[in-house]
Amino acid sequence: METVKGEILSIGTELLMGELTDTNSAYIAARAPSLGIAIQRMSQVGDDLQLLAGAFAAALERADVVFSTGGLGPTQDDLTREAISSALGEEMQVDPDLLEDLKAWFRYRGADMPPRNTKQATLIPSATTIPNNQGTAPGWWVERQGKIVVAMPGPPGEMYNMWQNQVAPKLKGRVRGQVIITRNIKTTDLAEADVAERIAQFAESENPYLGIYAKHDGIHLRIIGRGSTEEEARALMEPVESGILEIMGPHVWGFDDDSPEGALAQVLTESGLTVATMESCTGGLMASTITDVPGSSAYFRGGIVSYSNEAKIANGVPAETIHDHGAISSQTAEAMAKAARHRLAADIGIGVTGVAGPSEQEGKAVGTVFIALTTEGIVKPVALRLPPRRTVVKYRSVTTALVELTRLVRGLTSG
Ligand code: ATP
Ligand code: MG
Repeated sequence: METVKGEILSIGTELLMGELTDTNSAYIAARAPSLGIAIQRMSQVGDDLQLLAGAFAAALERADVVFSTGGLGPTQDDLTREAISSALGEEMQVDPDLLEDLKAWFRYRGADMPPRNTKQATLIPSATTIPNNQGTAPGWWVERQGKIVVAMPGPPGEMYNMWQNQVAPKLKGRVRGQVIITRNIKTTDLAEADVAERIAQFAESENPYLGIYAKHDGIHLRIIGRGSTEEEARALMEPVESGILEIMGPHVWGFDDDSPEGALAQVLTESGLTVATMESCTGGLMASTITDVPGSSAYFRGGIVSYSNEAKIANGVPAETIHDHGAISSQTAEAMAKAARHRLAADIGIGVTGVAGPSEQEGKAVGTVFIALTTEGIVKPVALRLPPRRTVVKYRSVTTALVELTRLVRGLTSG
């Protein structure tokens, strides 16, 4: 199977000043392989005509498909069209239909088109336009001598939209390269070595290939399959996926792009159960993360941030529990979970208490965290010893609590 080579050029001086992180390249790089394009290089180039023209020319020497993002705006530092024209030695010309579309776009918003926007209505003989229903900058689809240039706008929302609706479907019918598909299975509670041992039988294979990665939300198992079509690659991967699920089932909390809060949203919505939180060391981050998901009001009853002992006691944690065991203890975490559940009339309560640092507390080291989940007749305690950095402690405590909650709800509803 032939390899179709791809390159990505991210355009903009902002990228070179460290002001802007190049997330557009990551977006494209994550999606091109499933269309049969192997990305071989990604580069970031400033708003300079000569540099840009050189970058396009060099990329076209090496690759079959060149993607660019940025530089399609109306201002004089937006130079992507000029650079492609120069690299190909073709002249830009205003396309009357495009110009009319652009003027209509402005009229619709009650404005006259500024003259400098005219260049957004230009094409070269090898280019056709890629419509942009989110902004003024249409993309360019350039084909010459069997090579393709896809120039897309810089703003991520516009670029993603153009990719999904125009570029990916068009490439799918056009490119005949080896397709690479990935399936990511996300697990928790087991250490990397333990996971590796359990699934060793799948680790030998070249295609599909199985990678094991330790991430902040647990161990990820990534199955990578290759084939001449998506279907062929998926068929190879299927037995490995079901084999892994059979072995790792109870430890799996999500797939692919699932976030802990997204996976939680799904199981809670399906189960109809509600949740309330009482958090100390995470300072409200847990409630904030749960509510990042649209529609979370259906299952999130509310959260209490009890940062002091007084606040814990005022919200229903028995003073003796804190006195006898300390605020940083599994007993206090459990009392917080129960208090949240009762005070906020939820099916499930979560309590989190720990030491975010920088200094130890009650003689307990920075990174010590106790989480408790509770529902009728059940208490599930989780004790963590996290790396002693404040943001890491807050973030990982939340991630772990939400992943454990997802598993608890799955367990409750699967009988
Ligand atoms: P516009 O018409 O908005 O000027 P454009 O195609 O000219 O669009 P740029 O001017 O290069 O795009 O970038 C506009 C904005 O898009 C940037 O300020 C930045 O917020 C975002 N952006 C551009 N390139 C990237 C990138 N590689 N990764 C993430 N965001 C980006
Ligand atoms: Mg711009």
